[in-house]
Amino acid sequence: MNKDIATPLRTRAILEKYGFSFKKSLGQNFLIDTNILKNIVDHAGLTDNTGVIEIGPGIGALTEQLARNSKKVVALEIDQRLLPILKDTLGPYPNTKIIHGDVLKADVSKIINEEFAGINDITVVANLPYYVTTPIIMKLLEEHLPIRGIVVMLQKEVADRISANPGSKDYGSLSIAVQYYTEAETVMIVPKTVFVPQPNVDSAVIRLTKRDKPAVSVIEEEFFFLVTRASFAQRRKTILNNLTSQLPNGKEMKDEIVATLHEADIDPGRRGETLSIEEFAHLSNLLYPLFR
Ligand code: SAM
Repeated sequence: MNKDIATPLRTRAILEKYGFSFKKSLGQNFLIDTNILKNIVDHAGLTDNTGVIEIGPGIGALTEQLARNSKKVVALEIDQRLLPILKDTLGPYPNTKIIHGDVLKADVSKIINEEFAGINDITVVANLPYYVTTPIIMKLLEEHLPIRGIVVMLQKEVADRISANPGSKDYGSLSIAVQYYTEAETVMIVPKTVFVPQPNVDSAVIRLTKRDKPAVSVIEEEFFFLVTRASFAQRRKTILNNLTSQLPNGKEMKDEIVATLHEADIDPGRRGETLSIEEFAHLSNLLYPLFR
């Protein structure tokens, strides 16, 4: 077995060998605790037949553990300076492939088709760059990729928002968007001390398991998400005030919105944070003909 990359000593040696300096703007906080990495891998439920997509391999700390436990790992890294380092550290793992690029601009569907032919079990595992966690997760979900799920390290505060239930202060349009596509659970809380450099915030690992079909049935996803985002635009405002101020021509449509809220059995004086995902689906389906 090769020496683990993610020990404090080995990581420092690799960084010194290449004179690597961290770029805060790229969310570079590398993991230096092998136990945490092994735990993440356990939560991902990998087998010898799993294809793994990793975002931001850094110097390969997580990539190595994924490679040891799966069929193939394809990792997308934005920072060109890491490419020669990864070539070196991942040399012993021929089942890894690094693609240079920005995950937000990448054609992930094409990458899956090209890299995972014949592999049916595909999943995403990553220690995400914290400056773009939400856009990355939403991209992976909205593109309807043939993946089983997503297991990622992110800011604990974002993990709390993703898995929040109605009535809690963390519940919002992000909870609804992610729970629409997946079942979300926080599986680990991770201390700052296992990273170099240490991030300013606490971290967590979240597991998103894709549903066979979305949690609720909506006429048009885009409009459903528009209604949920509008409903949380100003948390202190009532759902009626948010919808009239946020929906296109909402002010002129106020009477119709009030009537539709009553039809959906939703008191116009409630706040968005009290509505369940089922209530949002029902409401957006009733509003849809008025706005489309
Ligand atoms: N996986 C490594 C680990 O756990 O030690 C590094 C994780 S670090 C939190 C995030 C990584 O994502 C960095 O290597 C960074 O360069 C890379 N990154 C940042 N933005 C990216 C983007 N838009 N697309 C792909 N990689 C990105």
